[in-house]
Amino acid sequence: SKQIRIGIAGYGNLGRGVEAAIAKNPDMTLVGIFTRRAPADLVPLGPRTSVYAMGALAEHQQAIDVLILCGGSKDDLPAQGPQLAAMFNTVDSFDTHARIPEYFAAVDEPARANGKTALISIGWDPGMFSINRLYGEALLPDGVTYTFWGKGLSQGHSDAVRRVPGVKAGVQYTLPSPEAIERVRSGARPELSTREKHTRECFVVLAEGADAATVEQAIVGMPNYFTDYDTTVNFISEDELRRDHQRMPHGGFVIRSGNTSEPHAQVIEYSLQLESNPEFTASVLVAYARAAYRLNQQGQIGAKTAFDVAPGLLSPKSPEQLRAELL
Ligand code: NDP
Repeated sequence: SKQIRIGIAGYGNLGRGVEAAIAKNPDMTLVGIFTRRAPADLVPLGPRTSVYAMGALAEHQQAIDVLILCGGSKDDLPAQGPQLAAMFNTVDSFDTHARIPEYFAAVDEPARANGKTALISIGWDPGMFSINRLYGEALLPDGVTYTFWGKGLSQGHSDAVRRVPGVKAGVQYTLPSPEAIERVRSGARPELSTREKHTRECFVVLAEGADAATVEQAIVGMPNYFTDYDTTVNFISEDELRRDHQRMPHGGFVIRSGNTSEPHAQVIEYSLQLESNPEFTASVLVAYARAAYRLNQQGQIGAKTAFDVAPGLLSPKSPEQLRAELL
């Protein structure tokens, strides 16, 4: 059967991850990268990868089966998602949890009107973690779901640290509390405060003449970002930052602890340890691109989330093969 033809809209961390992931899926082929910047300024991973201006998407409508949207959730996807879902089957990783219902509606309308399928909020959270929260709740209705994140580099918190006067550069990691995880794994169903679940760790390069104690106070006392957590601030050199903090690790745990009867506690756990958050997220997007293509072929149009996609649609294997090999 023919290869699924993929386009990438937006080429940042996620876009590069999608390019790498397509190379690992022989049933797919990359048509090209589409960017708002000057195409000549981008250096794609693959020397033969084509780069086009975003404006060239319209003339590639017949050449692309699924367009993977790799723009940022804050400013790019709210505009690009609805616009591009009118022209292409799409997959995106919109991760502003509180805005998902409104984003779903904004994408659903144009997709439906044009017979396209749009899978939104795909990735690991939202995405694989959401599916595991759903499984936990449905299978163990008498229970509690816990989500822990980390160890992970948080883009939002790193940005907040870098905005503090006196900070030249820096990163922020979120760490799950090992004690809290052990209590949850025991089946005890503890009530955990924000402070008990996660800690935060910052690595900061001071600007010339800045005072370390003042900077530290400004970070740990920052409302919304740090006041609800125990935060440690480590001051390091620019070389150390470059050497030890360039990667984007992340991951976490979804744990459902429930009782099927008074004496019987049951614990379900799904965990991710990711050396590269964007590369893993991109791998999930690519598997769901396969599903988007198939759903569209079946006439299932409009916006959908990970909850609406049957797992078999993610696999390159046929239903017959899956029944024989994995069931
Ligand atoms: P980036 O900031 O790296 O890229 C976002 C966009 O910015 C790109 O599409 C690109 O658009 C533009 N861009 C990238 N690099 C540059 C540059 N050097 N100069 C100017 N513009 C640039 O974001 P990420 O790829 O890291 O993440 C994208 C989104 O993925 C995040 O906002 C997050 O919401 C989501 N995400 C979701 C996850 C999930 O589990 N659901 C997990 C991880 C991330 P263009 O090429 O058009 O200029």
